[in-house]
Amino acid sequence: MTTAVAPSTLTAEDRCDRCGAQAYLRVELQTGGELLFCAHHAREHGDALKEIAVNLLDETHKLQDTPATAPQTDD
Ligand SMILES: [Zn+2]
Repeated sequence: MTTAVAPSTLTAEDRCDRCGAQAYLRVELQTGGELLFCAHHAREHGDALKEIAVNLLDETHKLQDTPATAPQTDD
C-alpha cells in the first residue's frame, strides 16, 4: 500500500461539479479522476459514490455545527 498523500482539506475554492456550490465531499475515483460535491449532492449521490470511490473525503459535518435543539431551561 502506498498512500503517502497527505490528507488535504476542501476549501471555498472547491466547487460542486453539479451545481457550483461550495464542495464538502471529494471523491477519488478508481479511474484516477476526482469529483467534488456540495453537501446537497453528496447526500443525493453518496451511496453510489461510495461504491466507485477509492478515496472519500467527507467534510459535510462542517455544515452541522449549529445546535439542532434549543438550550434547555431548568425550572
Ligand atoms: Zn451541488
